[in-house]
Amino acid sequence: MIFKELDLIEPILKALEQTGYTTPTPIQEQAIPVLLKGKDLLGCAQTGTGKTAAFAIPIIQRLYQSDSKKGIKALILTPTRELAIQIGESFDAYARYTRVKHTVIFGGVPPKPQIDALKRGVQVLIATPGRLLDLQAQGYISLKGLDYFVLDEADRMLDMGFIHDIKRVLKLIPDKRQTLFFSATMPPEIEKLANSILTSPEKVEV
Ligand code: AMP
Repeated sequence: MIFKELDLIEPILKALEQTGYTTPTPIQEQAIPVLLKGKDLLGCAQTGTGKTAAFAIPIIQRLYQSDSKKGIKALILTPTRELAIQIGESFDAYARYTRVKHTVIFGGVPPKPQIDALKRGVQVLIATPGRLLDLQAQGYISLKGLDYFVLDEADRMLDMGFIHDIKRVLKLIPDKRQTLFFSATMPPEIEKLANSILTSPEKVEV
């Protein structure tokens, strides 16, 4: 299979080619069609499988094709600063030939540059939970127009004690949205959380 067979638009195909990707990984092959259709996804996948592109590519494509471009449309919640930065670099690469803008926010650094980036306007926000809730409480972030919510590394989030933060975030986003849930493992508590935030999800396991 090649990326073109996944019905991807030319600006993304060009970016993927430049990034050096020739064929989609199994999770990309399975998840991209589901996500382009607008369905919720439960993905059981570890880092290293290509899961970042599996969620980033369809989000970029749908935002590129969408008419309403104002405000934050996609939120990617991830447990650590390192993962947030990596996801940001993936968006840099795949969205290169689109006008889809993103920024990354995480704790442990001064908030000013992050606030400035938010003020310039972004459609995709990649965030760790604490800094997200902090800047939202200060009025720099509105998630009321959100269309896509990605919970990345859900099992690690729970291990790190982020469950209450996740629940607070869920109260800030619309009920009507597309939700993507990724976890390397699926113990009962993770499955319970997944069931509570997903609507008729397609399951993808790699
Ligand atoms: P991830 O699982 O998202 O952390 O991705 C793992 C690594 O695989 C990253 O370095 C990606 O740049 C790379 N990668 C993702 N998709 C592909 C692909 N289709 N072809 C080659 N490399 C890829």
